[in-house]
Amino acid sequence: MTTAVAAPFRFFALQVVTTRRLGPSLVRITFAGPELRHFRSDGRDQSLSLFLPHPGQDAPVVPLERGDEWWRGWRELPDDVRAVMRSYTLRARRADAEGRTTEIDIDFVLHGVREEAGVSAEAGPASRWAARAAAGDRVLLLGPALADNRAIRFRPPEDTDLVLLWADETALPATTAVLETLPAGTRARVWLEVPHAGDVQDLATDADAEITWFVRERSAAPGQDSPMALDELRAVELPTARRPYVWIAGEAGCVKQLRRHFVGERGIDRRRVTFVGYWRRGLTEEQLREEA
Ligand SMILES: Cc1cc2nc3c(=O)[nH]c(=O)nc-3n(C[C@H](O)[C@H](O)[C@H](O)COP(=O)(O)OP(=O)(O)OC[C@H]3O[C@@H](n4cnc5c(N)ncnc54)[C@H](O)[C@@H]3O)c2cc1C
Repeated sequence: MTTAVAAPFRFFALQVVTTRRLGPSLVRITFAGPELRHFRSDGRDQSLSLFLPHPGQDAPVVPLERGDEWWRGWRELPDDVRAVMRSYTLRARRADAEGRTTEIDIDFVLHGVREEAGVSAEAGPASRWAARAAAGDRVLLLGPALADNRAIRFRPPEDTDLVLLWADETALPATTAVLETLPAGTRARVWLEVPHAGDVQDLATDADAEITWFVRERSAAPGQDSPMALDELRAVELPTARRPYVWIAGEAGCVKQLRRHFVGERGIDRRRVTFVGYWRRGLTEEQLREEA
């Protein structure tokens, strides 16, 4: 007897349906395509790999005809030909009456891109692509075909009695999706850092969540070398909890400092702390991957 095992991840050919500016720093892009009916996800901080075309290409170049060898083939292509690969988070998924996915949303940070001043040197291929995206634009997504998959990292142990979340704007989509899934009565403290006051969003949750926003443009030192929340965290008395669970995601240097705070200064069991560097100041995602 053979047992068929479904592959947890697969490629999806998608097209942009709409784009909507959420504030100065973020744009929400909705994607659709017939292959999405195979897309499944339990959401939360579901991460995805997106393959984008270079300017002048009408579709991203990934040698899918090589099957499982696509990665090797993709790496062998010249830099200016092979699709740009970047990590993003599933912000929302819509389905038909049978539960088949019809559309997904991804929220992109437009770093280095200003409406009035255009694109600066700090922009990357993905933020540039997102700033110009329009209906019909083609992308490839490497995403889940199994709802519970290893690209979901937010996994509080069952006995958790307090959820602590920190995110910058790149992990705001993940935090928002996580908050939407927390059951009523879950105690949560959330610290969010965004560049501009216009980036602050209304967040929906049934959890008993206290949310604090930090706006970088209001800070005396608007750089991001240290999380703004760190000072408050050092001073704040957290609700009494015996089994807290911490989830931290955003700029890698900030994530490191916060993890040190929760584990080193607060003595939270390191196994109850999930931390993910979503980007690192000064390094592109390729450079980060090479380093890893
Ligand atoms: C699991 C995971 C989930 C993620 N989810 C999201 C998401 O939902 N939305 C989202 O917008 N991002 C998300 N990110 C972060 C995103 O992948 C990075 O910001 C990525 O570097 C953007 O690619 P780029 O081509 O625009 O810039 P790159 O070419 O990678 O970088 C160019 C330059 O810009 C800098 N840079 C990169 N990102 C930023 C930033 N946000 N602010 C300031 N400078 C930056 C780099 O340090 C580099 O110097 C996620 C990352 C991971 C690992």
